[in-house]
Amino acid sequence: MNMTAAKEPSFRESVDLMFNRAVALMDLPPGLEEKIRVCNATYTVRFGVRLRGQIQTFTGYRSVHSEHMEPVKGGIRYATGVNQDEVEALAALMTYKCALVETPFGGSKGGLKIDPRQYEEYELEMITRRFAYELAKRDLINPSQNVPAPDMGTGEREMAWIADQYARMNTTDINARACVTGKPPHAGGIAGRVEATGRGVQYALREFFRHPQDVARSGMQGTLDGKKVVVQGLGNVGYHAAKFLNAEDGASIVGIIERDGALVDDKGLDVEAVRNWIGRHGGVRGYADGTYVEDGATVLEHDCDILIPAAMEGVINLSNAHRIKAPLIIEAANGPVTAGADDVLREKGTVIIPDMYANAGGVTVSYFEWVKNLSHIRFGRMGRRQEEARHQLIVDELAKLDQHLGDAWTMSPDFKDKYLRGADELELVRSGLDDTMRIAYQACSEVWNSRDDVNDLRTASYLVAIDRVATSYRAKGL
Ligand code: GLU
Repeated sequence: MNMTAAKEPSFRESVDLMFNRAVALMDLPPGLEEKIRVCNATYTVRFGVRLRGQIQTFTGYRSVHSEHMEPVKGGIRYATGVNQDEVEALAALMTYKCALVETPFGGSKGGLKIDPRQYEEYELEMITRRFAYELAKRDLINPSQNVPAPDMGTGEREMAWIADQYARMNTTDINARACVTGKPPHAGGIAGRVEATGRGVQYALREFFRHPQDVARSGMQGTLDGKKVVVQGLGNVGYHAAKFLNAEDGASIVGIIERDGALVDDKGLDVEAVRNWIGRHGGVRGYADGTYVEDGATVLEHDCDILIPAAMEGVINLSNAHRIKAPLIIEAANGPVTAGADDVLREKGTVIIPDMYANAGGVTVSYFEWVKNLSHIRFGRMGRRQEEARHQLIVDELAKLDQHLGDAWTMSPDFKDKYLRGADELELVRSGLDDTMRIAYQACSEVWNSRDDVNDLRTASYLVAIDRVATSYRAKGL
């Protein structure tokens, strides 16, 4: 990453700067302001695992930013760059994110300093189980206190190991499965969790385009249909966002940036084919249906309507912000735009849909999974057939009318099937996620449009989130 080191704030400083800009517009007592800003605790665990004939020592973190609501929530990331500052910045973002989308959690985040690609699956299992043990014995994994989830470098597989490890250590805890979210469906997971963050990005964009006034602020008009999109990172989040935006909303994916370079095609790339290519070859180099660009980061500056950084923090910084052409950036990753770049882009009139809102789909569906685990029943199990039976009553009446009216009126061919079918878990999860993303956007947009001193959606989001956290602290007498 080519940053102008002297002026560029760190990720942690960026989050603090953005927080400070927002609280300057609020009327909070200074003590409460400080209480909300600081990170409550960060635990560092170091542990050894015997691998390949020798003991290797690993360093992991779990940071708890705010316990105004418990459990605290946030993913566990596996990456070589993991460090205390990063984990703390991410934990703070989780606090604001959860407040914004009204999931009843405080903010937390974890990380293990490791390159998961260097290990065999059974080795990763040993490392993950040992890490989970270290965290669980300190109550840093616990259904009522601290509930991790996937993040960069982790997924369903790791969550299943963590859940099993916790259950082994807490054999009589009937709620053991709720100790972690993002588990596979057969191990207590929920339908739609894997796609959730990408799906949330899609729902966020759909809601943005339902607000013509906000769209106009970016200088664009119309709907998502035909919009040109560049996505950085075709991992779980970027892949699902790109796939849904293309297949369901008619957006065209004109650039895909990966670790080893980027692909560009102004006529649109085939997301599925690129994803398969990456799966087989480990990168985008060599893919034939698009122009390969070795210096992938330059494609962030490509001419497009919507830029989706879905990889990691700090990729849009003081060194490239002034060259970004997209009028709209949606932060699918956490912290992809530094505070310095944020100033440059705001000045330019670029609209940024901020991370704490844009990627909140993951934790939203995590919330549904946690509730499902605690209630020990799948969503829809009680009501689905009853709903169908009631719909059948209407369909039967309509069928009579159909007969009676002859050619004058007839039921549409697929109406009966569509209307009769009660919602399954996946449909309910998507509906809950859609509702959450719409309502949260409306709260931010309202602040953005109604206050002269609020010039961007990020500040608006912070204002909404901090106000909710403050209300919660006040209710506790702080
Ligand atoms: N790691 C995701 C995030 O940053 C998901 C967190 C969760 O589901 O708890 O939001």
